[in-house]
Amino acid sequence: MDAKRGVLDRLKKNSISSTDIAGQFWCELQMELGYIHGREFTEAMKSGKKVHKELQDEVATTISIEPQGYADFLYKEAYENYLSLKSLNEKGIGREIKVYGSINGFKISGKIDELRKVGGKVVIVETKTKSLNAKLGSTKNAREISETTMRTHKVQIMLYRRLLDDIKNGNYTYQNFYNAYGIAKMKLSDKFLSQLDLLGIDKGIRGFNTIYGMVYEQIAKLPQISDTLELSYVDRQTGEKFATVSVEYNKDDFDKILFDAMGYWTGERPARPVVTEESWKCNFCRFYGKECKVWWKG
Ligand code: SF4
Repeated sequence: MDAKRGVLDRLKKNSISSTDIAGQFWCELQMELGYIHGREFTEAMKSGKKVHKELQDEVATTISIEPQGYADFLYKEAYENYLSLKSLNEKGIGREIKVYGSINGFKISGKIDELRKVGGKVVIVETKTKSLNAKLGSTKNAREISETTMRTHKVQIMLYRRLLDDIKNGNYTYQNFYNAYGIAKMKLSDKFLSQLDLLGIDKGIRGFNTIYGMVYEQIAKLPQISDTLELSYVDRQTGEKFATVSVEYNKDDFDKILFDAMGYWTGERPARPVVTEESWKCNFCRFYGKECKVWWKG
């Protein structure tokens, strides 16, 4: 068996997402248990998704079309990426850009919330939502983001920087993507093709090679990617932006962070629970005292 499949098979996964890697820096064990016991789609996640959808609609880079299968889904994603990168070029801002890459031979994917042109460079922006309507009787300032929470966001945005860089520098090409995702066998469904007709999408760009070729070419042509990354915090209810945090990217430092994270996926070590000082997180974890008793005082 392919050694790389060990952990992925156990979690019934094909690739690793940027949120998986970010989740490892909250609690790796919680991330793993989420896959084993089924993940939850909370109210907070639903309103977060709504905020992201509204932001994407602001720059009109979505198409109303129903994918019938994985091939249709990949095509739709590529077409929307193309629109977002076009918007970045023409208006200086593009949103919801899906990026693929490879780390230690593992397939990695993620969706960049926003790319913005600032002073001749491209700045990566990650938007996080938080409820300012603190009902928990906490005396803490709801607008404050703890370092612990921010750590996961920093890892996520630094990963985007790395994936984008790999595409831009030709370390991850369309050919890599083509091989990894079996594009040669992909075929768009007839129903999807007729929807493309209705939307007036040019027949000349209906092939995977054409549309992805255009996307990869656009990324390769982007101006320099800034080392200063931006975390933007938005109120989940009102959409108000209440904090902006700059994160400096350092490739060597990030490589060390990734090396540590990948140790889990390669099966070199088991999933880690939170450290003692962060065992307060367990109070907010649905596995506490059930599937996970590491810090259970029961
Ligand atoms: S109970 Fe605590 S250590 Fe266990 S998975 Fe949840 S957060 Fe992690």
